[in-house]
Amino acid sequence: MRNLINRLDAICHPFPGIHVLVLVGSLLFISALVAWPAVGGTADRTGGSMPIPALSMWTERTKDHVEPKPRFETRTERVQEGDSLSRLFSRQNLETQVLHSLTQAENSQAQISQLKPGQSVEFRYNSDNTLKELAVVHSPFHQTIAAQSDGSWTISQRYREAEIYIEHARATIDSSLFLAGAHAGLSDNLIMELADIYGHVIDFVHEIRKGDQFVVTFEKRYLDGEFVEYGNILAAEFINSGESFIAVRYEDIKGDIGYYDQNGVSLRKAFLRAPLNFRRISSNFSHSRKHPVTGVRRPHRGTDYAAPTGTPVYAAGDGKIVHRGTKGGYGKTIVMKHGSSVTTLYAHLSRYGKFRTGQKVKQRQVIGYVGSTGLSTGPHLHYEFIFNGVHRNPRTILNKLPKAKSLPKSEIARYRRIAGTLIASLDAQRSHDELAFQSITNP
Ligand SMILES: [Zn+2]
Repeated sequence: MRNLINRLDAICHPFPGIHVLVLVGSLLFISALVAWPAVGGTADRTGGSMPIPALSMWTERTKDHVEPKPRFETRTERVQEGDSLSRLFSRQNLETQVLHSLTQAENSQAQISQLKPGQSVEFRYNSDNTLKELAVVHSPFHQTIAAQSDGSWTISQRYREAEIYIEHARATIDSSLFLAGAHAGLSDNLIMELADIYGHVIDFVHEIRKGDQFVVTFEKRYLDGEFVEYGNILAAEFINSGESFIAVRYEDIKGDIGYYDQNGVSLRKAFLRAPLNFRRISSNFSHSRKHPVTGVRRPHRGTDYAAPTGTPVYAAGDGKIVHRGTKGGYGKTIVMKHGSSVTTLYAHLSRYGKFRTGQKVKQRQVIGYVGSTGLSTGPHLHYEFIFNGVHRNPRTILNKLPKAKSLPKSEIARYRRIAGTLIASLDAQRSHDELAFQSITNP
């Protein structure tokens, strides 16, 4: 049923009332016109091909309203690695002189020759096969257009405003975050974003439990009523082992965007919970939960993350590399110092990142890659968190560690206003689902 509600939500939500009204309105209009001759009683019912004057009048009328079709033909090129505008021009059999006069028209606000692989470039031709327009498509919402008129080119940016709709999704985790998210209708990217938002407070490899829940409020972007892409996650609540974690997206006065809890404390902590690219191990995710061969094992004083060889390993926090080299059974190992009290260790690496001993590294920069060097039965990251010389579970020590950022007092009132609405909508979504669920189980 929850699924059905979500689906209904997805069906009803994206279209604003006005569209539906217009649609219903035009349907009524058409049926009235079709019915008109019969109601009027004047039509000749014997004729096999009875003309419906009003309807043909209507189609006649719409014809006047249809914009004339552009008379130019469009051919699209997809930018490949190593492509340049001149290469695309030769693929299109266009003269270099056209390219020359076009690049002459470039200015600091609008360039056409800096292409990125994966972009499409639309060549629009006149009926005599001369180039009329060239469009570099950056996104469905942004194109750089070069247009020719009277022999000279002008280049400009064209933006389209997305129609943004806000949706909610709610899921209970049965086997994996990904399956639950997919059931709730979320895209893989949106699920990864959710995992990133909570990456400093929840270890998504080891700490997810069956029965964990999340509610998420997010944007969906449309153009002309057509879904184009998912937008930002505006707010979320993740309940992990009964503990609630609220996240609200907030842009501060300086324009920095972050996620904060209900008290304005940043979710971005001094240390990552799982210091490796979760995206790469997500496929193994449900397996690692069902077969907890990894995890914290005692007297083994660290956490093991099974992951494919080559998975990037991140610096868990800002700090300095104090060791980079083999270290007995640990194999290839990196040790980092973060201030005076915290040391982190990353073992069994297949190879190192670009940083050397003595260098400063920022959180989430790649310091090495998962491997199986030293005494290791298979590719995994062995991670240790040492606080004042003692091995600790990063989760239990989390609250004692310095926070990366809290909102200053001057912003709290503004934050509370924005967050209040979003948190209320999360609550409403949750109780709305619970009510719907109760009405089914207790009719
Ligand atoms: Zn280990």
